[in-house]
Amino acid sequence: MVAQLIDGKALAAQTRKEIAATILTRTTQGFSQPGLAVILVGNDPASEIYVRNKRHACTEVGIKSIYHPLPDTTTEQTLISLIKTLNQDTQIHGILLQLPLPASINSDKVLEHITPEKDVDGFHPYNLGRLAQRRPLLRPCTPYGVMMLLNSINTTYKGRHAVVVGASNIVGRPMALELLMAGCTVTICHRYTQDLASHVKQADILVSAVGKPSIIKGEWIKPQATIVDVGINRLPDGSLTGDVEFHIAKEKAAWITPVPGGVGPMTVATLLQNTLTAAEQFQQ
Ligand code: NAP
Repeated sequence: MVAQLIDGKALAAQTRKEIAATILTRTTQGFSQPGLAVILVGNDPASEIYVRNKRHACTEVGIKSIYHPLPDTTTEQTLISLIKTLNQDTQIHGILLQLPLPASINSDKVLEHITPEKDVDGFHPYNLGRLAQRRPLLRPCTPYGVMMLLNSINTTYKGRHAVVVGASNIVGRPMALELLMAGCTVTICHRYTQDLASHVKQADILVSAVGKPSIIKGEWIKPQATIVDVGINRLPDGSLTGDVEFHIAKEKAAWITPVPGGVGPMTVATLLQNTLTAAEQFQQ
């Protein structure tokens, strides 16, 4: 048996179409366009590409994106002042601060200044706390996108064993909270986990978000498991690969996401969804 692919590209395209239709309906009803402020500090080439893609996606669905490119000499104070201004701006419904920030700036401190109602990345402790309490408001984009992928293949959650490998604040931890909220029994693996293989072998649903190619061996995959590979790693030949040994894993799993074309497109789609949600909930 070869696993079926979970097509993130197709689901993201469908989601974007639905968001565009909702925004069109809203604007014809007299609501203003949702507005997303996009802040990029410095000239990191990968971040510039991510920002360009996100802004392009905004235009496509009818979200107005307002770009704030800042030099890498920007101080923490200047950045916080800009965020405070954007928090007050009624034309702005979401604030996206592209990470990573230059080393001189404390990202956690700055992110906490984004008002939770405009925190469309879902990184603010308030939004993570809401998710932990099973009352999510703006959900962290990547885990939210993974849940949409899992829902699209009619995954059952209750009582199933989900194993999340990676425990970062932006992916692994909120991913575990999403799966817990859905009714899974959840194991979280991280840098200090002993015998990673023994945990992965028990996973009915496996989500890997580490950033190390082939850290998840294909032979560890439980037969008929569902595998979501969040990892994005660039190989020496320039190609992209995930964390999972795809060619072996796909022989054992029932469902598997490709890299690229799996989780990545959904992260952008959920950013757009969160911006629309923020406009719907908080538009004055
Ligand atoms: P991160 O902040 O570097 O976190 C990596 C996590 O992996 C940490 O929690 C770390 O544990 C854990 N880890 C490290 N070595 C490990 C090991 N040997 N065994 C088990 N766990 C280990 O990275 P991130 O931002 O969460 O991103 C993870 C990956 O997802 C990266 O490849 C990134 O490019 C990708 N990503 C993709 C998308 C998308 O849209 N597809 C979005 C975001 C991120 P500790 O906490 O103990 O250090």
